[in-house]
Amino acid sequence: MSFNELAAELEQRQQQFLYRKRRTLETPQQPLVQVDGREYLAFCSNDYLGLANHPEVIESFQAAANQYGVGGGASHLVSGHSQAHHELELALAEFTGRPRALLFSTGYMANLGAVNGLLDKQDAVFQDRLNHASLLDAGLLSGARFQRYLHNDAESLDKRLGKTEARRKLVVTDGVFSMDGDVADLPALAKTCQAHEAWLMVDDAHGFGCLGQSGGGCAELYEMGHEKLQVLVGTLGKGFGTAGAFVAGSEELIETLIQHARTYIYTTSMPPAVAAATLTSLKLLQQEAWRRDKLEALIEQFRTGCEQIGLQLMDSPTPIQPILVGESDKALEISQGLEDDGIFISAIRPPTVPQGGARLRVTLSAAHDEKQVVHLLEVLEKVSKKAGLI
Ligand SMILES: *Cc1c(COP(=O)(O)O)cnc(C)c1O
Repeated sequence: MSFNELAAELEQRQQQFLYRKRRTLETPQQPLVQVDGREYLAFCSNDYLGLANHPEVIESFQAAANQYGVGGGASHLVSGHSQAHHELELALAEFTGRPRALLFSTGYMANLGAVNGLLDKQDAVFQDRLNHASLLDAGLLSGARFQRYLHNDAESLDKRLGKTEARRKLVVTDGVFSMDGDVADLPALAKTCQAHEAWLMVDDAHGFGCLGQSGGGCAELYEMGHEKLQVLVGTLGKGFGTAGAFVAGSEELIETLIQHARTYIYTTSMPPAVAAATLTSLKLLQQEAWRRDKLEALIEQFRTGCEQIGLQLMDSPTPIQPILVGESDKALEISQGLEDDGIFISAIRPPTVPQGGARLRVTLSAAHDEKQVVHLLEVLEKVSKKAGLI
């Protein structure tokens, strides 16, 4: 069998401006990066607090590598559950105000593991239409009845929950929507869940570190304990600046996942040094509130600036500040225009976002400064005018 068919498919994808290409980063994640040999001011990483390249985090990583070596060596249930993992789980449980927390190697795996550890064919899963791909995949894989409700709409959820006769009902939502930046209306969703005896699962990949007094994300923002928000997922590769993920919740939830979550059981534990580094980034994230304050000021500055140049933004209070463009070719054109002027923001196109919803996903970080945002706004104005966006 030849690969001609694949070649034709790839060709077609290119013609639709949907072809994806990787760029090679030659520096750490920081505002000024070198990509494919050229310097850029970047506004598209998820390192919201500037911890990915923090000296203390690096130091903890190095010290733990000396102590534990590099590889986890085995799965958690065999012999790969190190003291560094255990300490981080205890700290994350305390941080989230939950009885227990369980580490996973990635956020994608945490979502697959949590949903599939809890549900099977007798059950039903209800998902926000704009949920992250890993949540949608988790629901589909579980074999549970799969339904989507309108974006952030508790009423639409209520209608669907009212019609189900499933054994278990799990409602799943992003905490901060990854491509739009808006925050889920968790109080309304939790109330609806309560009325129908459904569990609520929130993937707060983009909320941790950014939202709440001490960076506790949506759960802290809305003051929701595990009685109201039963399954809380956090990822460590974004605000935390490291890698991996966790699920936090009740004793019963975590023990169930240890027994049944296949993406927990059948995989090697994350390198212990990553856990040790995360313990340090957790400490910085909680104690250094100035990072959140600075981020908030930069978000405000960016939004005000966009309004002044007539660029329409989405209704987002978070560091995710997308500029909706519409067509994929246009998004690519603008992204290229920005690059020509030394600004790196990749275009996000379907199927990551809905058809006609291509956008520039601008993200801000506490590592950026005011001057850099001013420069971004200047270049954005020039490029958007040229592209006819304003
Ligand atoms: C990034 C992301 C994930 C995946 O996390 P990884 O640790 O990168 O695998 C899951 N959910 C949401 C909402 C995300 O944005």
